[in-house]
Amino acid sequence: RAYNFCAGPAALPEAVLQKAQAEMLDYQGKGLSVMEMSHRSDEVVAIAEKAERDLRDLLSIPDQYKVLFLQGGASAQFAMVPMNLSDGTQSADYVNTGQWSSKAIKEAKKYCNVHVVASSEEDNFSSVPDFERWQLSSNAAYLHYCPNETIGGVEFDFIPEVNVPLVADFSSSILSEPLDVSRFGLIYAGAQKNIGPAGICVVIVREDLLGNAIPATPTVFDYKTHADNGSMYNTPPTYAWYLSGLVFEWMKQQGGVEAMGKLNRAKSEKLYQYIDGSGFYANPVAVNNRSRMNVPFTLADASLDKAFLKEAEARRLLNLKGHRSVGGMRASIYNAVPMEAVDALIDFMKDFAQRRG
Ligand code: PLP
Repeated sequence: RAYNFCAGPAALPEAVLQKAQAEMLDYQGKGLSVMEMSHRSDEVVAIAEKAERDLRDLLSIPDQYKVLFLQGGASAQFAMVPMNLSDGTQSADYVNTGQWSSKAIKEAKKYCNVHVVASSEEDNFSSVPDFERWQLSSNAAYLHYCPNETIGGVEFDFIPEVNVPLVADFSSSILSEPLDVSRFGLIYAGAQKNIGPAGICVVIVREDLLGNAIPATPTVFDYKTHADNGSMYNTPPTYAWYLSGLVFEWMKQQGGVEAMGKLNRAKSEKLYQYIDGSGFYANPVAVNNRSRMNVPFTLADASLDKAFLKEAEARRLLNLKGHRSVGGMRASIYNAVPMEAVDALIDFMKDFAQRRG
């Protein structure tokens, strides 16, 4: 198999794909694929419950939090968060550190008064604004931020300490290291990076925040609907849920989030160190805020971008093209991307720089 540096849908652990393949046509002697089973069947309910248990174990999620498996991706959460957590008249605080926070802000403005407490737009989203200078409201319904901006490759090196519920879009860094869930009111993450395939979104929400959605909230957008029905109010994305469960199982076998955290740190440090010393490649992000998951970089001569991508592909190093809005390159090195992939990438980058630099 090739090494896949895609930002999402991203690489899945090979062992997970192998297990899914072995069970594809006949799940545990049932003569059916999981895809063909009712979400109310004993088998699917057991799969769903195990996935939740394993995720709870991995992140040590306290009992007073509900874990929801929803559709609509993280983008649906941009609307569901203000619908459920503000009463429509309250303001909500948002931090703007890049394109995903900007989208969350734009969407939230439809449902509540948004107050942007800090933004790094003026430095082209290449850092996290200094916490001391955030202009927090005194009575916000919640504070929303994006701990890891997937496009800019900007990651928070701290968890904001605020006295309103903290809401975080962890789409591209959930499960990449240990996390103290009790610091948050709500965490959400689209699956297609560190959790599983596209089509499912995990929401971890403190119970006392449920049940106050603004009256016009559609039933399927009310967290309480899903919390009360084990995320099976309507037909959930059963196969994506099953595959996410296999990923959780795999993660536990690898040593959980502690092991993932160490590996992710080592992978990203190695890549940044090479980029910084190369004299040919560059990363614009403030050193403390460099993402461990998404590593954007530019070549000294942008006219070589096409050749770089073509040669990388020939070496089976795939999906290194930067996001269409920023150009350049981006290597996404989520949990399922092994150290060998980073080594192969660095070898190629060295070779390319030597020949073309
Ligand atoms: N938030 C972040 C940080 C993301 O990286 C993405 C997608 O890549 C999204 C939100 C949007 O997710 P979805 O496509 O699942 O709606």
